[in-house]
Amino acid sequence: MTTKRSTVTIFAIFLGIIVLLCGAHTSADQPPAQLALEILEPAADETLQGVVAVRVTATPEDATPPSIYVGFGHASWFALQRVGQTSEWTTSIDTTMLPNGEATLTAYAHTPSGRSTGASVQVVILNGLQCYFGDLHSHTMYSDGVLFPQDAYAYARDVARLDFFCLTDHLELVDPVEWADTREQALKANDCGRFVAFYGLEWTKREGHACLYDPPSTRWPSDVTGLYQTASDASVLCKFNHPNYPSSEVFNEFEYSEAADAVFQMVEVRGDAGEAAFTRMLDLGWHIAPEGSDDTHSANWGDCGTWTAVLAPGLCRLNILDALRNRHCYSTGDRNCRLYFWINAAVMGDIVNEPVEHIAVTVYVADPDPGDATARIELFEDGNIIRTDEPNAPTRRWETSVAATPGKHYYFVKITQADGNRLWSAPIWVSAKSQ
Ligand SMILES: [Zn+2]
Ligand SMILES: [Zn+2]
Repeated sequence: MTTKRSTVTIFAIFLGIIVLLCGAHTSADQPPAQLALEILEPAADETLQGVVAVRVTATPEDATPPSIYVGFGHASWFALQRVGQTSEWTTSIDTTMLPNGEATLTAYAHTPSGRSTGASVQVVILNGLQCYFGDLHSHTMYSDGVLFPQDAYAYARDVARLDFFCLTDHLELVDPVEWADTREQALKANDCGRFVAFYGLEWTKREGHACLYDPPSTRWPSDVTGLYQTASDASVLCKFNHPNYPSSEVFNEFEYSEAADAVFQMVEVRGDAGEAAFTRMLDLGWHIAPEGSDDTHSANWGDCGTWTAVLAPGLCRLNILDALRNRHCYSTGDRNCRLYFWINAAVMGDIVNEPVEHIAVTVYVADPDPGDATARIELFEDGNIIRTDEPNAPTRRWETSVAATPGKHYYFVKITQADGNRLWSAPIWVSAKSQ
């Protein structure tokens, strides 16, 4: 007992010394006490749209720092300009380059001693979703395609005029030098607001092929369970490729995996076989969106007749990847047909966990090309067509409602254009309340 008490006493003294040391250390590291930042604009809890003004005061004026920056922590930092010789500093930020949702705007002042002081404010970013068109699966000679990543990114950007593009050579064939070059060329080609370039790999086995986006390495387990677990542990965004090749039994016939469902957000759907595999996967419990990348092995990157469209507030890498992680995408056989699909306030790809009483469906489809009319819109519930609309018009806003049986359902729409091109939306998962 005595031994135990003395151990406790020694521990308490030791802890006291640590606290004292830490306290002394912290106070020595504190920025000059007189400098204080305050964010005047935007206001706390304000909803931000488009380009917004930011105003910060640094007081007192005689402690004015040489520079102040603001940012949201995960994107660029913006330098503020001092207004004359006042304590006020300003800049503007284009919020469409940030994902929608709650965000923290933080200001930092950098003083001559290198220390900084900060202020932050909570806001909500809410911009309208735009449709961007791109490709997420193709190859170069670093595996079994042609030419180099530099050529692929340039072609996708300047000839195919895609909004976003990702190379995915077979990881089994890519050596470390080639992998470094792939990443470097993507970083060079990326141009925020104009063209989003990122890089990936294709996991290529008899058991199935999958694209891995922004993977930390080219070394991956060779079995399906290992792939799922490693991707899930590292939060690597993934996509199931050509779901009927190399056989119809790929990925253990798509047996549901909770670990994989958290990171595999898409499956290639470019025709009837892809659609059948997609609905079969949805029936097995997967939360996945259809997408239409080409898997080209030729020098025609992004120019082969099917595309992936993404709904995002602005064209930057952060937003495209965030949208894909949330399945805000659709497969399209038309190069520029815009498609929106909502249930209540949820957009395609969303999972609505809170049970709902009403299911109000809105579809908006618009094609700017003369003659590219929407012939048919089919609304699917749990794999079955439950409503059809035949507008025969280039632009159509269609509203309908569904009386669903209590329980969980998924809904998606398929568009058929007059020229036969087809589009498949991501599903929305809804839980219907008992009436
Ligand atoms: Zn493949
Ligand atoms: Zn491929």
